[in-house]
Amino acid sequence: MIKSISFLISNVRINVFSQAKYSTTFLPQFSSEKYDVKRKQFGVLKSTDIEYFKSLLSEDRVLTEESDVLPFNIDWIKNCRGQSQLVLKPKTTEEVSRILSYCNDKRLAVCPQGGNTGLVGGSVPVFDEIVLNFALMNKIISLDEISGALVCEAGCVLENLDNYVRDHNLIMPLDLGAKGSCQIGGNISTNAGGLRLLRYGNLHGSVLGLEAVKADGTVVNCLRTLKKDNTGYHLKHLFIGSEGTLGVVTKVAINCPVLPKAVSLGYFGRNVVLGYLGKLVAEDGPKNINENI
Ligand SMILES: Cc1cc2nc3c(=O)[nH]c(=O)nc-3n(C[C@H](O)[C@H](O)[C@H](O)COP(=O)(O)OP(=O)(O)OC[C@H]3O[C@@H](n4cnc5c(N)ncnc54)[C@H](O)[C@@H]3O)c2cc1C
Repeated sequence: MIKSISFLISNVRINVFSQAKYSTTFLPQFSSEKYDVKRKQFGVLKSTDIEYFKSLLSEDRVLTEESDVLPFNIDWIKNCRGQSQLVLKPKTTEEVSRILSYCNDKRLAVCPQGGNTGLVGGSVPVFDEIVLNFALMNKIISLDEISGALVCEAGCVLENLDNYVRDHNLIMPLDLGAKGSCQIGGNISTNAGGLRLLRYGNLHGSVLGLEAVKADGTVVNCLRTLKKDNTGYHLKHLFIGSEGTLGVVTKVAINCPVLPKAVSLGYFGRNVVLGYLGKLVAEDGPKNINENI
């Protein structure tokens, strides 16, 4: 049921809270109107549901005020806008499991949300889905400095992880412009590529294991750190790039390469090329440019 109706279609260090000030001055059109999508037969949120979530989480982790919920309804590029009335901020896998189990029973639709930096509207609701936000699931669980295996919760911000492992002479295998806000759970769910992909390969190779919770609340534990793990089915691959459609990622084990001793940077800028062409024109005249390039 997760994401079943949230299928629509983001400065880099912006976080969702700072979006509030933009959103009060500019509100995108509702996605449902913009893309003419019809709501399916999902449950409608009742006050008893909100009471249940407040009893499960503390009150401050159940957002219902319109102004509090608004930033979670709008995507990074302010193209999509949902109509959720509820944001839940679990801190543990157990809480995620109980939330999803309850929503499954009541047929309440859910939209998992990481750093909300996705550029295609998948991180925000379309209708009144409950936003399941992972910002408080941000603990680093362990780091094996010898093997490079980092285990952490899904809501860890990518840049924080990179800073942490750098202190241990390691580097995160991925890097992207949204690193100051995007979360490792979101990276895995989108199979994010980024700047280090050609050097370290994609997440299907870097992710050693993960823990996820299915829509009915069942916890899938594939949180292994052994690189040469050839036992059974490698279910982790199904969750990489599945954008919450199969369940939500709650913990991640990822292989961190050794921090390079040096980095070589090549810059290819339009002005450099134009400057070079200009120099050729000045020295040789236009007719010789082709021969010199
Ligand atoms: C400036 C900028 C640069 C970017 N550069 C790149 C780039 O180089 N390469 C690239 O691939 N992308 C890039 N992106 C896109 C985006 O940052 C990535 O897709 C990122 O991985 C999204 O992570 P997030 O935590 O913000 O996820 P969100 O945007 O919150 O969510 C993305 C999707 O994953 C789902 N999701 C989030 N967390 C979970 C979870 N724990 N479990 C299950 N589902 C979840 C959401 O429902 C949604 O469908 C860039 C974005 C920006 C704004």
